[in-house]
Amino acid sequence: MPAPLRFTRRFLDELPGDTDTTPYPRPVVGALWSRIQPTPVSNPRLLAWSRPIAHELGLDDERVRDPETARVLGGNALWPGMAPYAANYGGHQFGNWAGQLGDGRAIVLGELVRPDGACSELQLKGAGPTAYSRRGDGRAVLRSSIREFLCSEAMHNLGVPTTRALSLVATGDAVVRDMFYDGRPQQEPGAIVCRVAPSFLRFGNFELPSSRGDGKLLTTLTDFALRHFFPELGAPGRDSYRALLHEVAARTARLIAHWQAVGFVHGVMNTDNLSLLGLTIDYGPYGWVDDYDLGWTPNTTDAGQRRYAFGNQPGVGLWNVARLGEALLPLLGDDEREVEQVLTHYQQAYGTAATTHFGAKLGITFAGDDDVALITELSEWLQQHGIDMTLWFRGLAPLVLADAAPTAMPAGLLATAYQPLDADAVAGGLRWLQRWWQRVRSEGRAPASVASAMQRANPKYVLRNWLAQEAIDAAHAGELGKVERLLHVMQRPYDEQPEHQELAQKRPDWAKDKPGCSALSCSS
Ligand code: AMP
Ligand code: MG
Repeated sequence: MPAPLRFTRRFLDELPGDTDTTPYPRPVVGALWSRIQPTPVSNPRLLAWSRPIAHELGLDDERVRDPETARVLGGNALWPGMAPYAANYGGHQFGNWAGQLGDGRAIVLGELVRPDGACSELQLKGAGPTAYSRRGDGRAVLRSSIREFLCSEAMHNLGVPTTRALSLVATGDAVVRDMFYDGRPQQEPGAIVCRVAPSFLRFGNFELPSSRGDGKLLTTLTDFALRHFFPELGAPGRDSYRALLHEVAARTARLIAHWQAVGFVHGVMNTDNLSLLGLTIDYGPYGWVDDYDLGWTPNTTDAGQRRYAFGNQPGVGLWNVARLGEALLPLLGDDEREVEQVLTHYQQAYGTAATTHFGAKLGITFAGDDDVALITELSEWLQQHGIDMTLWFRGLAPLVLADAAPTAMPAGLLATAYQPLDADAVAGGLRWLQRWWQRVRSEGRAPASVASAMQRANPKYVLRNWLAQEAIDAAHAGELGKVERLLHVMQRPYDEQPEHQELAQKRPDWAKDKPGCSALSCSS
């Protein structure tokens, strides 16, 4: 018998909650959570799990493989000490205030005290209805669960702050979804992901009590967040509230700069999907850019407006921080200048983080306007000619080792274009390469160490949409090898792993317009 796990109940014990434990949709006022039990499923089966996060949590292989674990991670049983609840929050969706939203299909099972003393919330996504399910069924389909499971772990290994995913469990029950919103609902296999984070607090948790004029609840929640997640900012008070807002803004800016650097598009950056801790949270219709296109969004619901397109993410982060700032105004003497100041802070933090990331990708220590121009020109060229972002950047490092600037576009880089490049395009790319090469060498650093540092800033493997879709198609046919393989390869995205070379390819033609590969709906 493995030793019992230890759970704490900070969220439940220190914050006011709802006394009604039924799953029926309702407004929940004056409370930050509602107790709710997961709804049992027919046949919980562990399809995949992430060993690194399991071990961090103190779950050894034996415990993970214990049939009781699949029951817990499928919502059919609880480990002693677990006390499940759904959190209450609101949010701005696509630019509009949406009122109360809450965990409609997420249930926190408990806060696990890990062997290293830190606390992690274990949260099931798709474990049945809660007070916040509104018209939804509280369930999740296998395809979206595979996407969340794989991408959480891929992002973590890229070094991008994110919630983690411990497990992927098949429920044995069908879920009905109208995937294309075309009035043809279909049955799909259901699944549950167990997500892990120090906290799942979102901007929306603060916006809701603030929107209701409940300053007391807002203060209680903010003090809780400071105490547990930002203790370095000091005791609750106007100074630490301001410091909290600035810290969240800076983390958000750094997070989004990191997304831009790896080519990740979140897809639904509503304020209920922005983490207070600056983590990537809520993997829905996200995607990875193949050809570098700042106007691209994977989310079909957003195809018209493109509010959350790749190139808009930094600006949307700013907009969202403004909403958080407004929500916290009652704690900041209702002084609007506080919001102006935090926006400036966000922009500075974004600028620094973005130039640091792109400097690292190009092997330069970023220094001033000429470097901004170098990055901007590359961005324009990549976009104009439809170049694969990941392969282009990955292909630069070997050039640093050459004795002279390139005199022709290397074949490997030519091949990163999705359409054959005409002579002008090649000439433009070559001119950029030559300038860049001189710039890298001007720093006088040892080329070998510059090249190896660049390989650590330019992943070879990212979870391209078509790779995830291939794994999903196989899983629907009962074959989980592709999920396992992607999980394994994405654990070392900066390593060559030549045996997995075919996973580091441009998007194949068949994937260009295939659902799940180029466009995703929110139906999940
Ligand atoms: P999302 O766009 O996934 O962040 O979801 C927005 C809101 O809708 C959140 O409150 C979710 O909990 C809720 N929601 C999404 N899908 C479902 C579902 N299948 N059942 C219940 N609630 C859902
Ligand atoms: Mg959400």
